[in-house]
Amino acid sequence: MMTTNMTLTVVRTTLLLAALAAVSVSQPAPPLPVKSPKRCRSLDCATKPLTFGLDGTFQLSIFEDLHFGENAWDFRGPEKDRKSVRAMDRVLDRESPDLVVLNGDLIAGENAFLENSTVYVDQIVAPLLRRHLPWASAYGNHDHEFNLSAAAILERERKWPNSRTGSMVAGREAGVSNYFLPVYPPGCSQDGCVPELILWFFDSRGGWYFQERNPAGRRRAQPNWVDATVATWFRQTSAAMAARFGRTIPSLAFVHIPTNASRALQTVNGRASVNPNLQPGTNDDYPLAQQGRDWCSDGRNGPCAYGGQDVPFMQALASTPGLIAVFSGHDHGNTWCYKWDRRVPGMSVAGNGVNLCFGQHSGYGGYGNWPRGARQVRLSREKLRTSLEVDTWIRLESGTVVGSVSLNATTHNPDINHANHIAMASENFPSLNVQRFHGIDGGYISATLLGASRELSDLTCPGT
Ligand SMILES: [Zn+2]
Repeated sequence: MMTTNMTLTVVRTTLLLAALAAVSVSQPAPPLPVKSPKRCRSLDCATKPLTFGLDGTFQLSIFEDLHFGENAWDFRGPEKDRKSVRAMDRVLDRESPDLVVLNGDLIAGENAFLENSTVYVDQIVAPLLRRHLPWASAYGNHDHEFNLSAAAILERERKWPNSRTGSMVAGREAGVSNYFLPVYPPGCSQDGCVPELILWFFDSRGGWYFQERNPAGRRRAQPNWVDATVATWFRQTSAAMAARFGRTIPSLAFVHIPTNASRALQTVNGRASVNPNLQPGTNDDYPLAQQGRDWCSDGRNGPCAYGGQDVPFMQALASTPGLIAVFSGHDHGNTWCYKWDRRVPGMSVAGNGVNLCFGQHSGYGGYGNWPRGARQVRLSREKLRTSLEVDTWIRLESGTVVGSVSLNATTHNPDINHANHIAMASENFPSLNVQRFHGIDGGYISATLLGASRELSDLTCPGT
């Protein structure tokens, strides 16, 4: 829990940053160099704290939906896995990430045998080990299966010093891969430096509980959304971090299954909602499958109507200052980024300017035959300071670069900043009720909070 002053400092910093940032939507970025120099030359690179390079940049390569181990019982499975490794190699021969993200569905757990379901991890990370690259995973629905537990995948990953995957939220309902990684300034050799970027990872669960059956002998379905306890942990941890360091730290997030906000943006005006000029990329999975889709409380695997189960997580995303983009997989046929900067009809949560991005189907397992590839994200300290902006593109296995865009975190809609600010204030002071807004005055937004048994206190923060 933060004090009022801390909250105000955080909010001021955030909105000042937003005000300083350029107003822009996704726009094509300049062409990127075909090849960049390799950065990691030794194991040292894999095990030291994550830092920006001496050139002031930090790059991520996101592999998603690799689905290793499909058809494990015949020739087709191992053949697919070989091709997936080759796709990873081809991308990594042309890109120089500082961190690789494995964004869910690493393994086709539905095809896995209990005895060896996690050995595929060694195959998946082989291209990363060869290059001394560190990696971090956010598990997907196929990583949670009757014969495959995400906890066991994590255990297998941690055999390798390169794995940065963590698990910071306890409880059966939280899932496994909920954690954050700080990225420090160049030259930082130990914890204690002030992070310049935070990478958040979330477990959207789904699939089945490991080795569990209901009284009727059927497998138990696991909820397919980020649990509310994780959303609370995220909000509290990010607020505590801002308070500790006295400023908003820019951040990115990774979660396998996209939220309903992505679906709302994709469908608000029918198929034309995703504009290839503004949101370049494939848009073949229409409408896309979001968190909570088809999940039935009685354990049947659908069809049950979407029930808004990811609202707490969406609220957390939309009220986290400095969160520039959220990257998902799951819908193999979608590869676009969309700036969520408004209240989409039918949604209770308004976007605050955070970009919602898909990556590219990276593996030969899983449905679909879209070209394999991996989304790249390049951050620069300079751009984070001046405009909260990042560059992203997709590197296909063929070597081609597609879908280059620049993303920034800001929205210029004062109503949304206002509403989210008040929502955040209410969250941080659960005993207080927002009584009324005073509106925007001289660039400052203010509101009055009414305490249940306390005096009125005024809350003021800079507007846009
Ligand atoms: Zn998948």
